[in-house]
Amino acid sequence: MTKVFITGGAGFIGSHLADAYVKQGQEVVALDDLSTGREENVAQLSATGKFRLVKGSVLDPQKVDELMRACDICYHLAAAVGVYTIVEKPLNSLLTNLKGTEVVLEAAARYGKKILIASTSEVYGKSNKFPFSETDDAVMGATDKSRWSYAYAKAVDEFMALAYYQEKKLPVIVVRFFNTVGPRQTGRYGMVIPNFVRQALLNEDITIFGDGHQSRCFIYVGDVVEAVMRLMDTPAAVGQVINVGNNSLEISIEDLARQILKLTGSRSQLTYIPYAQAYPLGFEDMERRIPDLFKIKALINFQPKVQLTEILQMVIEHKKTKLGDLYKY
Ligand code: UDP
Repeated sequence: MTKVFITGGAGFIGSHLADAYVKQGQEVVALDDLSTGREENVAQLSATGKFRLVKGSVLDPQKVDELMRACDICYHLAAAVGVYTIVEKPLNSLLTNLKGTEVVLEAAARYGKKILIASTSEVYGKSNKFPFSETDDAVMGATDKSRWSYAYAKAVDEFMALAYYQEKKLPVIVVRFFNTVGPRQTGRYGMVIPNFVRQALLNEDITIFGDGHQSRCFIYVGDVVEAVMRLMDTPAAVGQVINVGNNSLEISIEDLARQILKLTGSRSQLTYIPYAQAYPLGFEDMERRIPDLFKIKALINFQPKVQLTEILQMVIEHKKTKLGDLYKY
């Protein structure tokens, strides 16, 4: 049996990862400060006897040390995420994303534990060389636009992880997640699909930021979970930075809104909101973001399976349950 330590284990991706390991019969300990993570994401696991949620922060070195010592492998997914979180609380986000990763890597190195670090497609910044492959240059925005603080912090996390690999021989894998979506993702911090689905189910205006021509490639959270679990078991992935995404699901935000309207049968109207109004000052959006999947294919022959319509249907069903009485047919 493997003992798996997941920081951010009550979060969106972390809770799905915990589900998958528990289903395999492994033991999971999640550390989560419940800032964006939620107990209800892991409530289904409490009766299994294979799962424990520790409420605490990755900024607590003692707690991290204790949990790291007891585990076999670690996934570091705890982070301040979501555009609103980053833009509204840049200091707190920076501390969590820089210092938190430092604490976790230090502990992993102390006990020589294999660790997978979650990074993000944001580190490519506003590069316009498509698709984004791992060794491409990053094109970051200026520091007066706090959105980029997330990308810079995650880039430093990557440097730190690779330095631990190089100098301390720590077995570390870095993954860059591209727009991961599915049930349990909340729209509270800006993510587009849960927001649009909620608005559609409540027949409220669908808030398209900018002209809606910007596009994203979405990947189902279950596909991401499969990818990281297989990478963790792949010796050749150690010391590597690897994109995890789905390059076949590119869609403009406007088309995404229309598809959600169709699938929900909603009476909502599309409304276009200028960026200056949608976000506090100092925000820049990316026009496109497409992953190059050559590396992950070569490593684990990865092929995302779930199509966008299926993902949206799952999110719609989940949201209906969450909205309860608020949602009327
Ligand atoms: N977006 C939007 N309306 C919303 C939330 C987001 O039009 O209510 C847009 C956002 O400006 C971006 C895209 O949808 O162009 C994806 O946003 P998200 O925050 O989900 O992910 P990211 O910006 O990190 O790709």
